[in-house]
Amino acid sequence: MARSTHRVAMKTLGCKVNQVEAETIAAALVGSGARVVPEAEAEVVVVTTCTVTGEADHKARKAIRHAHALPQAPVVVVTGCGAALDDGTLAALGERVVVEADKSLVPARVTAVLGTRLKDAREPSARAGASFRTRAMVKVEDGCDNFCAYCIVPHARGVPRSAPLAEVLAEVRSLRDAGAHEVVLTGINIGRYDDAGVRLPALIEAVAATGIERIRLSSIEPEDVDEALLSAISATPAFCEHLHIPLQSGSDRTLAEMGRRYDTATYAAIVARARDAVPHLAVTTDVIVGFPGERDVDAAETLAFLERIGFAKLHVFRYSARAGTPAAAREDRVAPGTIAARAIAVRALGDRMRLEHLRGQVGRTVEVLPERPGQGTARDGSRVQFPSGAAEPGTPARLTVSAIDEAGFALTAW
Ligand code: SF4
Repeated sequence: MARSTHRVAMKTLGCKVNQVEAETIAAALVGSGARVVPEAEAEVVVVTTCTVTGEADHKARKAIRHAHALPQAPVVVVTGCGAALDDGTLAALGERVVVEADKSLVPARVTAVLGTRLKDAREPSARAGASFRTRAMVKVEDGCDNFCAYCIVPHARGVPRSAPLAEVLAEVRSLRDAGAHEVVLTGINIGRYDDAGVRLPALIEAVAATGIERIRLSSIEPEDVDEALLSAISATPAFCEHLHIPLQSGSDRTLAEMGRRYDTATYAAIVARARDAVPHLAVTTDVIVGFPGERDVDAAETLAFLERIGFAKLHVFRYSARAGTPAAAREDRVAPGTIAARAIAVRALGDRMRLEHLRGQVGRTVEVLPERPGQGTARDGSRVQFPSGAAEPGTPARLTVSAIDEAGFALTAW
């Protein structure tokens, strides 16, 4: 049967796991002969939704309506966490909206709409393309059962489950052979990785044994940064000196109300041990401001604790209620104006700490993975700018940091 040149667009919202799942869907469709095109040219638009907050829900519905209203009247195939929780609501957004919560079935849904045949989706080489020639995300875990009070993800993605070790290693080898120099091991709660007793530390060591040059974790819950993980990381030269450890709040009272599994003293001790184990470690984090019941004193404690730890970068989120979570049922909401003011204060602190971290690199020689001419990423996650002749895209290079670009939050090296 002749290969079709059907046109598909990918609209992906949400986290790194959503990104890598959408890439896998796109690869399967390309494998079946389709082309990935901009929405305005597409016969089918695949929308991968996020439902982590009320705001995310709003963005997902907006993306679906936008695709459905395109002049060429494409079919809109909706997947992702929003589809897992609210399929009826999303399906009602338009007569050409098709909801498929099971991501592995999306390629078949799309090709059924297009009337074409499907090729094997998990063929990693199909993923290797210009877009991630140097760094590639590899999904190793899905699901979570921590049930933090503000989070709907456990309801959308279910209990923790792990990709078989052999599959992960096969994917890493294929990405390595296709030109990737770094893999970002990605999951919803990656510390819960467990394939027949093989846990995250052993997974990292096995991935390193493939010969891939750089390994990074997308994010790791504080309680999973234990001795076993730190000794695996410090014994693995390929492991980049960067850990993203979500804190969420610097107030013990708020942490308890969020249902987080540590207090600030425990978190500080975890970071101290990690810094002892990994020289030049950059620690980045997530902070939610305006959680219901958060008082001025809690917000002040958060600022003080963030400053005390000294993070390389903060991701700051304004609390947004997600229906179906315990926090959304609380009446002691923080006023939107107060949330906005607290977010400004935390972001300003974050910018200041980020510049301090970057200044600390001046004079050091760092390994940079160039991703485009004159731009790349250091092992600690910092962005690096350099003269385009100093290093070739896709070939790791050791460059000396001469200054920082304050406006661009980047290192300048040569
Ligand atoms: S650890 Fe908490 S915030 Fe993270 S996915 Fe699980 S429930 Fe959500």
